[in-house]
Amino acid sequence: MSLIRLTNPAEAQQWCAAERAAGRSIGLVPTMGALHRGHAALVRQATQENDIAVVSVFVNPLQFNESRDLKHYPRDWEGDCASVAEAGGAMIFTGRLGEFFPGGLDGEGGLAPEFMLDPGPGAEGLEGDFRPGHFAGVATIVQKLFQMTQPNRAYFGLKDFQQCLVVQHLARKADSPEIVLCGIFREDDGLALSSRNKRLTSKGRSEAPRIQQALQETQALWRGGERRVEKLQACLAGALEDVGLEVEYAAIRDPRAWTKSQPARTLEVAVALVAARAGDVRLIDNLLLDGGTGE
Ligand code: AMP
Repeated sequence: MSLIRLTNPAEAQQWCAAERAAGRSIGLVPTMGALHRGHAALVRQATQENDIAVVSVFVNPLQFNESRDLKHYPRDWEGDCASVAEAGGAMIFTGRLGEFFPGGLDGEGGLAPEFMLDPGPGAEGLEGDFRPGHFAGVATIVQKLFQMTQPNRAYFGLKDFQQCLVVQHLARKADSPEIVLCGIFREDDGLALSSRNKRLTSKGRSEAPRIQQALQETQALWRGGERRVEKLQACLAGALEDVGLEVEYAAIRDPRAWTKSQPARTLEVAVALVAARAGDVRLIDNLLLDGGTGE
């Protein structure tokens, strides 16, 4: 089956409607493009669990709180089409903000505020503090993608842990689609794959794996029986001291009962989360300390 490439969201919407009318189940993989092996794994899983897999590629300006990050975000439509075709995807589509939200743009080319969605409690704290407005932008476009493609299942990577909470919240409210959470794909030295890794300097690239090492040290402490949040947090933060990365947060949360602040109690399940900058490249990573799936 050759890959269908669409550059207009309205056409993608029609195409998906026809597939559903023909009785085929749809697995949606929302992305911002510059696809890597982690994205390809999501597409492959969506292909296996549905009749067809559909991939959206949209560098969503609504979720960028830094214009510099948006400007430098890598784009590679031809490469993305090749990756999706190789992973067995049936259709890939893209579009512009005004095409996703006809009549929704304000005078400056942004989205009128009444279109923006409340991302729910998973957006509070950590990423929500450091990237104001980010999750409202994520929720707004993801809901639009769900409405347009009406997938049976939608696939998201645990790398963006709070994003998973936000899209689960959206899907619970609408009773659809089923959200499938996928594990984090990494380089051999532990660095989580990210489209932004391409922008690391060689110094940044050599320091970046320290994030995963810190997460693993914290997991070793957990496996040794430590359940006190402040001890786990101290281990995580300590392991990132003296690293040439600018740490934004190194935090512990209960993945099943998300809180804006660090919970002041012992935990039965825990996720360790880090955001750090290597130069102007922002990296995030996390690890479920009990080795669970986040569900
Ligand atoms: P992005 O293009 O960064 O918006 O990512 C699109 C989807 O791929 C999101 O659900 C991400 O969580 C997921 N993803 C990105 N990087 C990875 C990775 N290293 N492993 C697994 N999933 C990932």
